[in-house]
Amino acid sequence: MGVTLDLSRASGARPARPVNLAGLTREQLKAALIEAGIVKADKARMRAGQVWRWLHHFGVTDFEAMTDIAKETRAQLAETFTLSRPEVVERQVSKDGTRKWLIRFAPGIEAETVYIPDVGRVGALCVSSQVGCTLNCTFCHTGTQKLVRNLTAAEIVAQVQIARDDLNEWRAEPDQRLLSNIVFMGMGEPLYNLDHVADAIEIISDNEGISLSRRRITVSTSGVVPELVRLGEKTGAMLAISLHATNDELRNELVPLNKKYPLATLIETIKAYPGISNARRVTFEYVMLKGVNDSPDEARALVKLLKGVPAKINLIPFNPWPGTKYECSDWATIERFAAIINRAGYASPIRTPRGRHILAACGQLKSESEKIRASALRAMAEGA
Ligand code: SAH
Ligand code: SF4
Repeated sequence: MGVTLDLSRASGARPARPVNLAGLTREQLKAALIEAGIVKADKARMRAGQVWRWLHHFGVTDFEAMTDIAKETRAQLAETFTLSRPEVVERQVSKDGTRKWLIRFAPGIEAETVYIPDVGRVGALCVSSQVGCTLNCTFCHTGTQKLVRNLTAAEIVAQVQIARDDLNEWRAEPDQRLLSNIVFMGMGEPLYNLDHVADAIEIISDNEGISLSRRRITVSTSGVVPELVRLGEKTGAMLAISLHATNDELRNELVPLNKKYPLATLIETIKAYPGISNARRVTFEYVMLKGVNDSPDEARALVKLLKGVPAKINLIPFNPWPGTKYECSDWATIERFAAIINRAGYASPIRTPRGRHILAACGQLKSESEKIRASALRAMAEGA
């Protein structure tokens, strides 16, 4: 899905953009160093290991900092590759400690990343996988923005790197770190960009780098059935499903992708998710929309639908955005709904809204990026 434009090649005049090493898995890094003539095959593993540690353990942004690599080799690396971070165009901090960064990956290509304290073990980072989204769930702000393009693995990893820079965590002791979990719940549908998402997960979960356990990485999907099992096989990540309705008629309206992959097929496929068990449950997200999906009957239908699936339920109070036709359910209604779910054995399911006033809460993310014709992008890149 989406288009990745290689602007430099398209313009014909400029040299190819240097590859950003942050987006290469260990194997890809090894191959890239050999191909660039920086190291012979028999030494590639060792050299790639050194570069890897500087990149993903220490978070350096300059080859000069790699002091155990010879000066000439550092110069060679700098000629062929880059380590630079994309630009943070805007940084906001909410009263509750939520931080939001608007990141410019390339001219006209912007997306948001949000850090939420006290979620997960210590704090969770909500990353984007696409700029915009091809799907248009009716309650989601991102859904009103057309897909601009998929993010590359380097651009997904960069979101984690920028958060670590800002939280000052590269050299912090593991027990002092503020970032313990990653959720792919920012902009976009991760399963329409699975290859890049999987590479990024491999990179950020590597033990000698950012080292976030795959069990603390959750990928949220609106239900792209054909990619679900591949997600589990490729990444070992935890799965979250944006459910929001218990019957096809309503789900077709809220999550139009349901017309293609209806509930029965979706639930069947979830049961086959690799590694699913009571210790590794699937999270079902359910946004509370006033008068739409919040009745006690629907709470009971939800419990019935999930029977036999190792599940956790997250009730998400709807986060409003300008122009939406929906309202958030009343607190009493949410509590009544939660009580029915609790009685069925699901614990503390209401997710408190965070970062609402900086529009950093679930489904509020939207960047100004629009799908721009390649010619216009080229002109912007050349003028940049
Ligand atoms: N595309 C993926 C991941 C990004 S959306 C997906 O749909 O799962 C992350 C979560 O935010 C999803 O559960 C989504 O349904 C929810 N969400 C979207 N808009 C929302 C809103 N306005 N209020 C609350 N949750 C919302
Ligand atoms: Fe896309 Fe997810 Fe929003 Fe639906 S909820 S429009 S899949 S980002």
